[in-house]
Amino acid sequence: MIEREDGRKTNLAYLADRFMIQLEAGHKVIRHIRDGDYVLFNRQPSLPNMSIMGHRIRVMPYSTFRLSLSVTSPYNADFDGDEMNLHVPQSRQTRAEVQEVMLVPHCIVSPQGNKPGMGIVQGTLLGCMLFTQRDTFLQRDFFMNLLMHVGDWDGVVPEPVIYKPKPLWTEKQIFSLVLPPVNLIRFNITHPDDENTDISPGDAKLFISKGELVCGIIDKKTVGTSANRLIYVTWKEFGPRVTDKMISQIQVLVHNYVLHQGQSIGIGDTIADEATMRNVIQTIQNAKDEVKELVRKAQEKELTLLPGKGMMEAFETEVNRALNGVRDKSGSSAQYSLLKSNNIKRMVSAGCKGPFINISQICACVGQQNVEGKRIAYGFTRRTLPHFVLDDLGPESRGFVAYPGGADNAEYTQ
Ligand SMILES: [Mg+2]
Repeated sequence: MIEREDGRKTNLAYLADRFMIQLEAGHKVIRHIRDGDYVLFNRQPSLPNMSIMGHRIRVMPYSTFRLSLSVTSPYNADFDGDEMNLHVPQSRQTRAEVQEVMLVPHCIVSPQGNKPGMGIVQGTLLGCMLFTQRDTFLQRDFFMNLLMHVGDWDGVVPEPVIYKPKPLWTEKQIFSLVLPPVNLIRFNITHPDDENTDISPGDAKLFISKGELVCGIIDKKTVGTSANRLIYVTWKEFGPRVTDKMISQIQVLVHNYVLHQGQSIGIGDTIADEATMRNVIQTIQNAKDEVKELVRKAQEKELTLLPGKGMMEAFETEVNRALNGVRDKSGSSAQYSLLKSNNIKRMVSAGCKGPFINISQICACVGQQNVEGKRIAYGFTRRTLPHFVLDDLGPESRGFVAYPGGADNAEYTQ
C-alpha cells in the first residue's frame, strides 16, 4: 500500500497498472515484513533489559514464532504455550537502535552478572559432550558429511589423526573448525575424579590453543553461561558478532551429528544392578530401624534433649536427620554402579538436564520430603492423609518415599 502525505492510500493489490503510481519524497510504502528486517522481540514479564532484544527476520510458513534455543535463556522462554510479542520498528532511528544496541549478539554478556546470559543448552549441550569424547573417531564419509555443516568452511580437509589401516579423524578436529582463534585453559570440575594433570583418563583438562581444541570435553562448564569460559572469552576477544556466529555454528554442526548418532532414554537407564539394589534396600531398612529405635527411646523418655527444645522437637529433628541421609547414601552407590554410557548420567554430566540428585531419586530412593525443613505436617486431624491411622509417626505417613513398588514389595523385602 502507498500512503501519500495527505493521508490518501492506494492498495497495490487492487491496482490495475502499478506504473500509474509515481513514488515521491514523503510517500510511505506500507509493505510486508521481509527476510533481514530488524524487529524487537519480547517475552513478559520484561524484567531485565534482555527481555526485549533485536532480531533479524527470516519469514517462514505458519503462525508460530521460531527462535534459536540459545536465546531462550535470557527470555526465560520454553515451548509449553509461551506467548511472545514482536514489534516492527517504523523509523530509521528505531531501526538503528535495534541494530546497534538491542540486537541479540550485543546482549550476550549480561550487565547484571558480568557474564554471558546465553550459551549452548539442552540437546546441543549433550551433543557437544558426546561430540568431543576422546574415544570416538570418524570415518571419511561421515567426516565429509559433517564438514558440509561447518558454517564457513574454507575447503581445507584436516589431516586424519590415524592413517592406517583406515584414515580416521577425531570429532575434536571438526569442532575446532567452528571455533574462533581463542586460547583457553580450564579444568572441568564436572568430572568425578579429582584429575589435575595435563592429560588424564577423564579428559578433565580443557585446552584450546588458537581455536584448536587440543584436549578436554566440551560440556556446560565450557560452553554454558559461566564467566571466563568459551562464550565469555570469545565475546571479550572477538566481539558480539563472532560469538553469535560461533554459537550458531556449534548448534548447526552438533545438531547434524546428533541427527546421525541418535540419542534416546528409556526404562533401562533407570535400573541399577542387583547388588546395588540390595545395598539400597539395606540402607532404607537401617534408617527405618533407626526410626523405630527413636520411637522406643521417645516413649521411654530416653531421648537426649537439645537445649531449648521439647521432647517432640528433639524426636522430629533426629528422625528427619536419619531419613534425609537415606537418599544420599543409597543414591551414591546407585550412581557409582551406573555406566558412563547411561543416558541419564550422560545428560546430568553434560549439564543439560537435572542435578546429580535426580539420578539417586530415579534409580534408588526418592527420599524424605521436607516442608520448611520439617517432615510433612498433619493436614487432616492428627494425620497427613485419610488412609493413615491417627498419630502415625512412622516414615511413610510423614513423607518418606522409599522406592517404586512400595515399602512391602515382596520381591525386595525377601
Ligand atoms: Mg513456559
